[in-house]
Amino acid sequence: MNIFLDGLIVPEAEAVVSVYDHGFLYGDGIYETMRSYDGVVFMLSRHIKRLQRSAHLIRLEAPEKERLTDAVYATIEANNLSDAYIRITLSRGKGPIGLDPGLCGKHTLVVIAEPFREYPALCYERGVHLIFAKTRRNLAEAVDPKIKSLNFLNNILAKMEAKERGAYEAVMLNAAGFLTEGTVCNIFFVRHGILYTPSVAAGILDGITRELVIGLARKNGIKVEEGKFYPEDLLGASEVFFTNTTAEVMPVARVEDREFEVGEITRVLRSLYRAEVRRYVSNNSR
Ligand code: PLP
Repeated sequence: MNIFLDGLIVPEAEAVVSVYDHGFLYGDGIYETMRSYDGVVFMLSRHIKRLQRSAHLIRLEAPEKERLTDAVYATIEANNLSDAYIRITLSRGKGPIGLDPGLCGKHTLVVIAEPFREYPALCYERGVHLIFAKTRRNLAEAVDPKIKSLNFLNNILAKMEAKERGAYEAVMLNAAGFLTEGTVCNIFFVRHGILYTPSVAAGILDGITRELVIGLARKNGIKVEEGKFYPEDLLGASEVFFTNTTAEVMPVARVEDREFEVGEITRVLRSLYRAEVRRYVSNNSR
């Protein structure tokens, strides 16, 4: 693949970053993941805004919106992609060993774009298996989950638990035992026709897909409640699904040993989301 690295498009073999980059040494940096459909990056402005917010929260200067937009589209075009997975990585940059970000010169900006690999159809037809991880989600007062940081070990530890237990994804609780989110997704569940999802105050990344799904649900007469919920609330649900940019709306067939059908509200929201993508793509085609 061709990679965008600090203003240049270079072949993957030449896209190398210094071993002194503080992103590598300390996980000091941030990122965003996006998806393009027919050559249009869905919700690009929202992703750029969130990248800039993450940068602000770690006091890292982020490039302007125009520069990031150009970098993303240049990378897609350099690889002749239409339906792509795209990742922007922004690290603190190269500097001597030592935690002080002031030691680093300029940030490092990388954009990767690859052909989008569809999730197996069976995942959407039947749903996937989740577990509750023993690993708790970072406290907002420690490393705020709102920062989409390069230090992803919290989530990686939970993901390893899911893998070890033969599950697809792990749901993390916060220190107080409330539901937060998956390792790369937000969690929703339905009880008595009402859609529930942990609030941002529970300590989650406020997913762009989550926000869109909440809006679509409300617009279509589905009541949504954001709040503090326990694992038992999830286990007592009639439907469960998760959301993120790449998987969109993904049904859940099992949480621990409790099984779920792919329910009506999940199906409706999945098809409303897909329609929203189509509408966005036709309104924003370049
Ligand atoms: N929560 C975490 C921890 C994530 O890493 C992600 C996406 O990568 C999400 C939630 C979902 O966010 P979005 O819908 O913006 O992709």
